[in-house]
Amino acid sequence: MPVQVGTGGEKLLYRLLHAYIKDVYLACPYMPELLEVIELGNLILRQTAQFVEDVQSDRIQTLIDNLLVTVKEANGVGIAAPQVAQSDRLFIVASRPNLRYPNAPTMEPTAMINPSILAHSDETVKGWEGCLSIPGIRGHVPRYQAIEVAYTDRNGRRHKQELTDFVARIFQHELDHLNGIVFVDRLESTQDMITEREYQRIVTG
Ligand SMILES: [Zn+2]
Repeated sequence: MPVQVGTGGEKLLYRLLHAYIKDVYLACPYMPELLEVIELGNLILRQTAQFVEDVQSDRIQTLIDNLLVTVKEANGVGIAAPQVAQSDRLFIVASRPNLRYPNAPTMEPTAMINPSILAHSDETVKGWEGCLSIPGIRGHVPRYQAIEVAYTDRNGRRHKQELTDFVARIFQHELDHLNGIVFVDRLESTQDMITEREYQRIVTG
């Protein structure tokens, strides 16, 4: 027996529902998604990433949105595109205190595209680093204490900025990812490498 559809009330309800769903869909064409973080041994982490030609492209803007939710969910303070298997010269710097870095300073998470170091201090300092692509390991890594950097933001604007201490450290760590370098390559000695559990014991006293 054919199903009877299309009484006046049903049609109106259907039209209203359809319009509502369309509005919601148009207001939010996509939801940021958590991306899988690749780990040491994946050759993409050893490649030199490509210059980003079109910052405003849907692909790059979506990648930035996805990196922002991925780094937050993972309790990271930074993440570079090659860590999600996208070999593009861009990363997020998102310093804030969290379980993995309880003493980190707070800043607005910032996408930095085609970044570079223009100048740096003579002084280097050693500090603890981890990496979402090298779980379970921490290293005491020497980095420049202060750097002058340039980068393009997600709106296409170019910035010059001086960064110091922990935020300068994040920038240098993430810039290394764009050049196929990971923090264990920067260790002065394997004695400067410890496990995550021992690190947590150190930082929480
Ligand atoms: Zn890393």
